[in-house]
Amino acid sequence: MRRSTLYLLIALLAASSVHAQSEHSHSHGRAIEFPDIPSYQTLKCDFHIHTVFSDGNVWPTIRVEEAIKDGLDAISLTEHLEYQPHLDDIPHPDRNRSYEIATEFAKAQDLMIIHGVEITRDMPPGHANAIFVQDANKINNIEDPVEAYREANRQGAFTFWNHPNWFRQYEDGVARMTDMHLQLVEENLLHGIEVVNDITYSDEALEISYAHDLTIISTSDIHGLVDWQFQIPEGGHRPIMLVFATERTPEAIKEAMFAKRTVAYFKNLLIGREAVLTPLVEASLQVTKATYEGPTSVAFVDIENVSDAPFLCRNVGNYRIHNEADVFEIPAHGSIELQVKTLEQMANFDLDLEILNATIKPGEHPKITLRVTMPKE
Ligand code: ZN
Repeated sequence: MRRSTLYLLIALLAASSVHAQSEHSHSHGRAIEFPDIPSYQTLKCDFHIHTVFSDGNVWPTIRVEEAIKDGLDAISLTEHLEYQPHLDDIPHPDRNRSYEIATEFAKAQDLMIIHGVEITRDMPPGHANAIFVQDANKINNIEDPVEAYREANRQGAFTFWNHPNWFRQYEDGVARMTDMHLQLVEENLLHGIEVVNDITYSDEALEISYAHDLTIISTSDIHGLVDWQFQIPEGGHRPIMLVFATERTPEAIKEAMFAKRTVAYFKNLLIGREAVLTPLVEASLQVTKATYEGPTSVAFVDIENVSDAPFLCRNVGNYRIHNEADVFEIPAHGSIELQVKTLEQMANFDLDLEILNATIKPGEHPKITLRVTMPKE
């Protein structure tokens, strides 16, 4: 073979393998996809985002374009009120400008912009986002942090504690409630807590969400570009919060957040209350085919996953599996064939699975039952 022909072949092979890899990374495109659950629409939200109007590095319109690429339903640009490193270069006495620019740009787009701010204080109480606010200027320049929360609440805001595990505030990275947080919860001024922020996850924040009846929140807290921070060209995704709403409106999102119907989607993990997390897993997995192999009692069962998250399953049911051990993965937007040893031919049977990469509480995973029904002869 001539050397030039050989090089051409190598180049073609390399190109096809790169192509195959990118197909694999985004087999369903970049837009994040999860199915609806019974009674609710599954909305994809990111409510902690920065632009040049605080300490971020991009103009608000770029945030809108990123969100549309990611297939999000709603975002909030939550500029720090009290931290404004670009103020000399970009003076903006009106703290609503970031929201207004994004809203104007998003008018022709299918994306909801929720008005938000980040109340940025030393510990306690640290940083918090207030979203669904009316006027950022009225929350700015309030000296007493509790008064700032009161003003946000007067405007009808949903507020949540940001990165309670931040090691610049808690050196051991362990989220803990302070007396001021207890007061904020007591007065119903604080409604949620970030269990996921940027590239971190906090078991302790998840425990606090249950102990103090706070909504589980997950955000990107993006300052640079989403593509670079979360390695989207390599198949990554930004952390988002799934909100289970009665309809696709800001009002319905707010109602769902106060009702604590949220799930965090972080790396390959889903974290949320059982009432919504279990139905989400159930809606994502469907038995698409079932048949016995000839006269045997080995059932061939196809399970399809219609969501963006792969599911790591542990078989906790009555039947052993012929072609897998007790733990196996059902790939995102893919399917798996299980050969189930039911020991006798049955008209239908249950597959009981524990979903190991979904978390209700630290160490506690949802269990689902897939009903397998054999076709009638
Ligand atoms: Zn922030």
